Amino acid sequence: MKKTITVIPGDGIGQEVVSASLTVLETIAKKFNHTFSYQYALAGGAALDAKGVPLPDETLKLAKSCDAVILGAVGGPKWDSNPQHLKPERALLGLRKELGLYANIRPAKIYSALAEASTLKKEVVSGVDIVVMRELTGGLYFGKPSGFERRNGEEVGFNTMIYSESEVRRIAVAAFEIARKRRKKLCSVDKANVLETSQLWRKVVLETAKDFPDVELSHMYVDNCSMQLIRNPKQFDVIVTENMFGDILSDEAAMLTGSIGMLASASLGGNVAMYEPVHGSAPDIAGQNKANPIATIASLAMMLTYSFHLSEESDILEQAIENVLNKNFRTGDIYTEGTTLLGTKEMAEKIIHELSTLH
Ligand code: NAD
Repeated sequence: MKKTITVIPGDGIGQEVVSASLTVLETIAKKFNHTFSYQYALAGGAALDAKGVPLPDETLKLAKSCDAVILGAVGGPKWDSNPQHLKPERALLGLRKELGLYANIRPAKIYSALAEASTLKKEVVSGVDIVVMRELTGGLYFGKPSGFERRNGEEVGFNTMIYSESEVRRIAVAAFEIARKRRKKLCSVDKANVLETSQLWRKVVLETAKDFPDVELSHMYVDNCSMQLIRNPKQFDVIVTENMFGDILSDEAAMLTGSIGMLASASLGGNVAMYEPVHGSAPDIAGQNKANPIATIASLAMMLTYSFHLSEESDILEQAIENVLNKNFRTGDIYTEGTTLLGTKEMAEKIIHELSTLH
């Protein structure tokens, strides 16, 4: 199989985790006789420094003309005081919008070797296997009008939370389809007791459910869901929710697994999907070969599944990650006494070595 991948390393540890992860992907390519070609592009702070904008047109053009996009992370203190339209994070919103990526999938799965690393009790988290599906291009983060103005003699800031039926329906369909391939349980999270957008959300999800009678649907208010995720996370299979609720809940679900350095994501919806670790550019450890590359490597496993339909390759990659953890190799973020501490590159090398032993 021949595929072209747009690689956007971004800033800080983004560059380190992406370059380490590509060595792993190349091993998969060789092992299974695939040819992946890479076109590099700038976004975030790196693009601001080189081109004066967070998302240059060339980057968008490359992202739209390939089979999948890999992104590291963007942002850093150097650009924190930039005006809103020149913040590195604008690149993420732009890519999601321009590529039509309305569904963000974040698995929160506990690797058994890491059950101890969670801040919750082992018996609460072991066996947790949740997918949070977040609506990515609507809601409060994109609704207009938004801005600042003076009202009654003082400054106010305002945003608009808005969803159309079609926006809700397409994410609901995507969530039901994922649930159907898993344990067939879907929990739709909203705030329908207060918000009109949530009442519409619930109505459309209920209508969509008629096409998926084999999936058990439940509804939960977002405040209750944030509590239930900590109290009894094993009750969830797939969670679907709107943009801002999903932003918060997916980070919470993520932390059940121990470290943000382990968490992969896929953003789907348009012709080209984007794969990225959940974490940011981690300026505190950038350039030190300390970052955990597993979130990015696991995102590549998602790419193999969702964009290239290479499930055997994806399964082997997941297995290699699991084996390395079972052998007690750790980066600093998941290190515990008695395990072996590795750097970013060395962790990727261990996964590559493991791949050579798997068939
Ligand atoms: P962060 O995820 O970068 O870091 C939070 C903490 O987790 C830090 O202590 C960091 O060292 C640690 N960490 C993160 N990833 C790690 C990894 N792979 N291995 C080991 N440790 C890891 O979040 P932040 O500090 O809030 O943000 C830093 C910058 O990243 C900001 O500019 C922010 O806007 C940006 N950011 C970007 C994205 C993205 O590109 N998708 C997401 C979140 C934050």
